[in-house]
Formats: sequence, C-alpha cells, structure tokens
Amino acid sequence: MMANIVWMQTGACSGDTMALLCADRPSVENLTQQYGINFLWHPSLTAERRFGDVLEAVTSGREKLDILCIEGSLMIGPNGSGLYDTWKGQAKIDIVRQLAPLATHVVAMGTCAAFGGVHAAGPNPTDCTGLQFMKDEPGGLLGPDWRSRSGLPVINVAGCPAHPNTITKVLAMLAENEPLKLDALNRPSAFFASLVHQGCTRNEYHEYDIEDDVLGGRACMFFSLGCRGPQTEAPCNTELWNGRSSKTRAGVPCFGCTSPDFPSDRDLFVTPKIGVVPKFLPLGVARAKYMAYKNLARAAAPERVVKREMEP
Ligand code: SF4
Ligand code: SF4
Repeated sequence: MMANIVWMQTGACSGDTMALLCADRPSVENLTQQYGINFLWHPSLTAERRFGDVLEAVTSGREKLDILCIEGSLMIGPNGSGLYDTWKGQAKIDIVRQLAPLATHVVAMGTCAAFGGVHAAGPNPTDCTGLQFMKDEPGGLLGPDWRSRSGLPVINVAGCPAHPNTITKVLAMLAENEPLKLDALNRPSAFFASLVHQGCTRNEYHEYDIEDDVLGGRACMFFSLGCRGPQTEAPCNTELWNGRSSKTRAGVPCFGCTSPDFPSDRDLFVTPKIGVVPKFLPLGVARAKYMAYKNLARAAAPERVVKREMEP
C-alpha cells in the first residue's frame, strides 16, 4: 500500500527537514522503497511537482492524503489573519486548516509545530502557536478537541529538531498502520518514555555528585551548566544521533528541546538554583530529601570518579 505524504513548512528553519535527510534507521530511501511512502510534496524532495498542483489534487479528492506533516510554528498574526506567513498571498494557516481534515494522520514535525517552539518565544510578535498546543496548553491552531480521520489528535514528534530516526520511524509506523500510543502531550510514547539522563555516559558522575562548573570537562553538567537531561523525555542517549553521538556525549548540556516550554527564558548554560539546590530537580524527586541523598553519595564517591579519571 502506498502512503501519500504532504510535508509543508510554515514558520520553520528547515532543521526538521535536515534531520529527515540524516535519518538512517530507516532512511528516506527505506521509507520510499520499503514502506511505500510517496512524497506528494516536500520542499526539498519533490522538484518535479508544484505545490499548487498538489494542493489542487488533494483538495479536489483526486489524490488521497494519508499523512500531513507540518514543520514549523503556525503564525496567526497579524490580528488573526495569518498574513505574516503566506503562500501566493494565502495565509499558510488557512492552507493547513484546509488540508488537515483531509488527512488520515497529521504529524507535527518538531517542537515549533507541536508546541510553538522557538518562533513562539516571548514576546512572540507574530503570534505563533503549535498545531494543537501552545506550550503545554491544549489548543493551538486546530483546538484541543480536533481529531484527524484516524481518530488521533495531531501526533507531536517533538524536538528541535526532532530526532532523525524518530521522524522516519513514526512515518514508517503510520504507513504500516501500526498502533501508535501517545503520551499526555500527544508525543508517540515509544520514543518519549525515557529521559535523556538515561543512557548518558556521565551518569556515574551524576550519581556521586561530581559536577563540572565549566564546559569541556568529564563530569556531570546538572548542578551548574544547565543540563536538563533528568527532566527531558527524549531518545537522544538511547538512540544516538547519526549513530554516533548526543549533546551530552559531546559535552553540551541537554536544552530540553522536546519539552513544551522550549525555549525557556533561562540561560541554556546555567542551572537556576534556590540556594545551592537546582530549582528544577530530576523528574519526581522530592526536594526535601534531595540534598541529603546527594551529600551521602558525594561522601561515598570512589577516587577514580572524584579525580575524573573516567571518560564520559
Ligand atoms: S522545531 Fe527547531 S528545528 Fe524545527 S523548525 Fe522549529 S526551530 Fe527549526
Ligand atoms: S550530564 Fe545531564 S544527562 Fe548526563 S548525567 Fe549529568 S544531568 Fe544527566
């Protein structure tokens, strides 16, 4: 069975398209050759067709639309007209509103399309939002109760950009009619059920409270360098990027880009604290007991960890 895709860019930087092209398990070639995915339109992959022709073919019912992928924030401004982001004078939000009811599935590719993301960051002069969320508030362009023809809400493949193989795996699952369980933020649970912290090679340093306060070290980046790995659900350390690395493996703190509050107002490389304790603790941890546990762990730290002899 062939699954037709329209991939449309709205307020986007093309980062998710770059991610799509980097995917290797499965790759774009695998999608088209093994999973029967047919790109009716993608701004970087379908030079032989014009967007207007595809739009006409889908809206007239001549071609079916199995999967509508939106990459980028939805620009509502000015004054609800959507005219900050247009195609041939037509507001792209109106094109999205026209296509979404025709699609079996609608997928938000990246945090901008899912939750508003970078373009919706304050003061948000273009009045950007996500497809079905504004940050963590249900709503967005389509409203909280909207459902695609499959009965699912917009599927939020969050990330800035979304993880390459998460993009292609989700598309392959939809093409194969595999059931897709979603979490409370409508992200596919299979890819957002573990933390970036799980699988981080700096975990032993974290466990014994051995922390770096300048970049370039071997230890954990939670207490001083802003790492959000213990609060961020994403596959980055369980499925490496390009099969090789991740932010924390490369010595960069996790920025929490799969979360609805991304990008937050805080400095990406600084951990906000209340006294000496990070303001945001690992998910589910009780503040009252946290420092007692940390102090005990630090006292028990083996010398090889204290001396930072272990490669992260
Ligand atoms: S989510 Fe990130 S990568 Fe995707 S369009 Fe927005 S800014 Fe670009
Ligand atoms: S660097 Fe970040 S993800 Fe890695 S162990 Fe420390 S807090 Fe966790």
